[in-house]
Amino acid sequence: MENTENSEQFRNSISTVSKEGKRVWVYPKRPSGKFHNARKFFSVFLLFILFGVPFMKYKGHPFLLLNIIDRNFIIFGQKFGPQDFYLFVLGFIAIIVSVVLFTAIYGRIFCGWACPQTVFLEMVFRKIEYFIEGDSKSQRALAEADLNFSKLFKKSVKHLIFYILSFIIANTFLAYIIGVDELFHIIQSPPSAHLSGFISIHIFTIVFYLVFSFFREQACIIVCPYGRLQSVLLDKNSLVVAYDYVRGEPRGKIKKNESRSSGDCIDCNLCVDVCPTGIDIRNGIQLECVNCTACIDACDEVMDKVKKPRGLVRYDSQNGISDRTGFKFTPRLITYTAILIGLISVFSFLLVTRSDFSITLLRTPGTLYQSLENNKISNIYDLIIINKTYSPQTLELKIKNLDADIKFMGDSLSLASQQIYSGRFMVIFDRNKINKSLLNIPISISVLNNGHEIKTVKTNFLNDTKQ
Ligand code: SF4
Ligand code: SF4
Repeated sequence: MENTENSEQFRNSISTVSKEGKRVWVYPKRPSGKFHNARKFFSVFLLFILFGVPFMKYKGHPFLLLNIIDRNFIIFGQKFGPQDFYLFVLGFIAIIVSVVLFTAIYGRIFCGWACPQTVFLEMVFRKIEYFIEGDSKSQRALAEADLNFSKLFKKSVKHLIFYILSFIIANTFLAYIIGVDELFHIIQSPPSAHLSGFISIHIFTIVFYLVFSFFREQACIIVCPYGRLQSVLLDKNSLVVAYDYVRGEPRGKIKKNESRSSGDCIDCNLCVDVCPTGIDIRNGIQLECVNCTACIDACDEVMDKVKKPRGLVRYDSQNGISDRTGFKFTPRLITYTAILIGLISVFSFLLVTRSDFSITLLRTPGTLYQSLENNKISNIYDLIIINKTYSPQTLELKIKNLDADIKFMGDSLSLASQQIYSGRFMVIFDRNKINKSLLNIPISISVLNNGHEIKTVKTNFLNDTKQ
């Protein structure tokens, strides 16, 4: 790092805010290089998944549906409802822990490679901007130029395309919530038939448009909690985009016909010029850095030109740079990994063993036994069954361990898809066939679907011992 007194001054301000508190607009130079190409391919893959998944169906139903409003979730074609809330809680905890673990090891690699904000901004919106307005210098010149036909035309076309793209993105996100079929139905209907949906989609479109057209890197710097958290998640072993100050310093410009005694950094500023958050990676890890790798590519190109080895800016840990030590699996990482494996194991077990039915059976609270004619005795039970499958199901109950009858009070056990059955039934014993001295008789009730037992519920039968 720089050894000047003011070397840490940059930490007192944000690169995109001027001393007067005004926004400093970033015009990053068009990135190119090995990492950028890899990110381009990966982004195309991610965008293909993002826009393709809402159209994927499994057995006639969406492959993925996240209907928060109606609490209707379909994940990998499996239907989940409020009764599966514990799975969501576990899954959510597993995701949080994996993010912590992943960040501790790989830093903000997610931000640079997979975050939708970065993918859309850097790989879609900025690409269009480069195409219409040119590279950073032309963009700056256009912004500073007086309004003329060319400027008006370019800006109008750009913003029109941005708005259309934002509309498509908003519709795609809506498709994840309500499904493509419902989305197409809304699109084909007059707005008055779906006024709230129509207004919501335009609000989301405007939000996306403002974020990708104006707010941009501020979302990562100011709003994103993950970016803020990185300072507590990273340690000196975490992999980050880093400048090799050991090799680069003291930096100095190349002068013609002058033998060079300084470090490898020729102070060309290209790594700063390409940075979409406007920072200088040579100042070390900063919260603004989204690990987009643009500075790695820029510096590699410079190193090629000055015939120095690549990697003056590279993926490495702080320890890797200062001590030249390799990656270490620290106790903190071992603990995180153990917790993560435990959570994933429990989550996978619960997911795999998740039943198609949710069954709750209780002896009706506040009731005793009932004496019936023909020397019979009964108890009443409450039964709630949720059919989580996509098809109608017929269930039946049987007493497994004793000779008794079951009589439903109301509808039989036929459930439509996703229906919740709530009803009562009686278990009837012949007094001659049960132990008269036993107050509580344990019974096992088998729940059958198409002749196959799906669950055995253990409960008690309250007996009349005075007889
Ligand atoms: S691109 Fe490389 S050589 Fe140029 S200023 Fe940045 S670190 Fe130094
Ligand atoms: S410092 Fe480098 S990796 Fe970080 S945001 Fe800027 S260009 Fe991207």
